[in-house]
Amino acid sequence: MDPNPPGRRTVLDDPALVLNRSWIPVHVTPVRRALIMVFRGAANVVDTASLQVHDFGGWLGQPSHSRARAIRCPGGRILAPEVVQLRGYDKVPVFEAPFSRASLFRRDDFQCQYCGCRPGASRLTIDHVIPRSRGGRTSWENCVVACAACNAHKGDRDLARIALRLRRRPAAPRWSPHLNLRTSQWLDSWTQFLPRSGRKTRVAAAGG
Ligand SMILES: [Zn+2]
Repeated sequence: MDPNPPGRRTVLDDPALVLNRSWIPVHVTPVRRALIMVFRGAANVVDTASLQVHDFGGWLGQPSHSRARAIRCPGGRILAPEVVQLRGYDKVPVFEAPFSRASLFRRDDFQCQYCGCRPGASRLTIDHVIPRSRGGRTSWENCVVACAACNAHKGDRDLARIALRLRRRPAAPRWSPHLNLRTSQWLDSWTQFLPRSGRKTRVAAAGG
């Protein structure tokens, strides 16, 4: 699968972000190792645009455009995974999870917390239960996944004033990353999976 001589950097040496079963980043590994994990069935590839997960066979079937990070192999090209999700790993000490867009989508199971629809990640939004204009915080307890229609219907109004009910009370999940994400090869597609403290690390590194 690797046509390059030993010692030369290839796309197989590029970094891939590894998530645990709860979609929390746990470490960064070379694409080579990530593909082996997927091939062995220990992990799935996460499509960072659709947030859909694929096993090895499913990932092989994904179309690859000419500029994509891809690996040549006898059957053609295989896209280099940017993010993989471990299928069994959840041995993480229990602390409160860092808040991120992807973690919130996962907590709410990609379901609008008002009407219960599941239109897909690209059509879901994050709603502040107590609107930001009224001092509502961006937190596990005040944010829920909402479809665009419910979010627009609610607008800046308090729930008590309109006919919308939350399906469950929002709360922090019990996840923990323990992740050192300092890397010079940070991928933009990872941002949605990262805790906000990780994003600050990136900005600090980029600034000097
Ligand atoms: Zn809805």
